[in-house]
Amino acid sequence: MTDCLVTDARLVTEPGLTRGAIAIEDGSITAIGPSVSASGADTVIDAEGMVALPGAVDGHTHMDDPALFPDGIDMASQTASAVAGGVTTVIELPTQTPVTTPEAVREKRRRCESRAHVDFGLVAGNFQEPDVDVTGLLEAGVPECKTFTSEPYRADDGTILSLMDAVGDAGGRMRVHCETQALIERARADLEGTDPELYPRSRPLEAELEAISRMGWFAEAAGCPLYVVHISSGTGAVVADRFKSRATVPVTLETCPQYLAFSTADVPEKGPFLKVDPSLKSPAERERLWEAVADGTIDCLGTDHFPTYRANRETGWEDIWEPYAGLPGVETLVEFLASEGVEAGRISWPRLVELLCTTPARKAGVYPAKGSLAVGTDADIVLLRNDPYEVEASSLAYNGGWTPYEGREWTWRVDTVITDGTVAARDHTVYTAPGDGSFLPRGRT
Ligand SMILES: [Zn+2]
Repeated sequence: MTDCLVTDARLVTEPGLTRGAIAIEDGSITAIGPSVSASGADTVIDAEGMVALPGAVDGHTHMDDPALFPDGIDMASQTASAVAGGVTTVIELPTQTPVTTPEAVREKRRRCESRAHVDFGLVAGNFQEPDVDVTGLLEAGVPECKTFTSEPYRADDGTILSLMDAVGDAGGRMRVHCETQALIERARADLEGTDPELYPRSRPLEAELEAISRMGWFAEAAGCPLYVVHISSGTGAVVADRFKSRATVPVTLETCPQYLAFSTADVPEKGPFLKVDPSLKSPAERERLWEAVADGTIDCLGTDHFPTYRANRETGWEDIWEPYAGLPGVETLVEFLASEGVEAGRISWPRLVELLCTTPARKAGVYPAKGSLAVGTDADIVLLRNDPYEVEASSLAYNGGWTPYEGREWTWRVDTVITDGTVAARDHTVYTAPGDGSFLPRGRT
């Protein structure tokens, strides 16, 4: 008995789009392709003209931190925003509260399990000391450890090398925020005033390039798989590719939609609504980064989703040093890349699926259950319709009241999201509940 049948969709396959149907039973895909038919399905979704993708896997979010985020911003509200935008799995990273021991992982897992609308994995961090119980973390289902080369969670070089030794030996992977603190401090010392346009100048390109390069050599010396988060420049991708293409350890390169959507040229208009670390780079760097996304240098997109309320962010017009850096992005990820990537002719639909679904799922160790449309995989599906619109924060499920993409003209809209074989969201209205999502224990990847 088929529970749900999606008919007449444009399925994204390796060579391109093919018309077909998807049959779902007990939360899994039981048949997919041009010749699928299932009479008597409980629910039939007519997807004529729509593109069907696997649910997106956002490999980089910050959603849960009761000590940091204000009331109303938690795993429940933020995973609701995720599912509204077609992100059906999130990999959640630590923010202010350390998650550096197996016990802290279990505590965060329990809290998130009771709130999550979508399935989730966890990353441990932010490590500022060399001691790490990698075996214990792996047993708790968390194979990745995060550290920083810059404040506010900076670890010194010796500590990072010790961490990489331990994590590499145990079969884990290090994620590193790559900006060099000394170069940030030097740039900041020359700046006077509170204008939003000063912010990108406080975090120069060289800070990213130097740290990426150093972490590449560290990872190779330590024999530790490396995941470079949020590369913000095309040159950063080129520098990272120098060691990625010859390194003896696996290297993963991530960028975020904000570095493809915006540059320093947008800061005068959007001011504090573009305050993010690493900061935005020049228009030329943005163009080079698109090339790195198209040609495969960049492996995947994650959002680095960091939720704040609009009122907090507004304070940055007066004093850009005041509000937190970070942008909400989980709900707009799929629509952004479909509209400004595929529709704009920069990438193909299959490349979009690689960047948002297949590769992040593989890196997270949850492929093929997540990140693919195939018989036997989880029925997490996004249907996109071609329907030009202007982005408005008020039409998003996100409860912070703002989006950096406000006013953007996009073409591809998330129509229907299916998780576990049932309709989870339609037109950014969410039907899932806190606790519907499950923890995804992840092994060595
Ligand atoms: Zn982050």
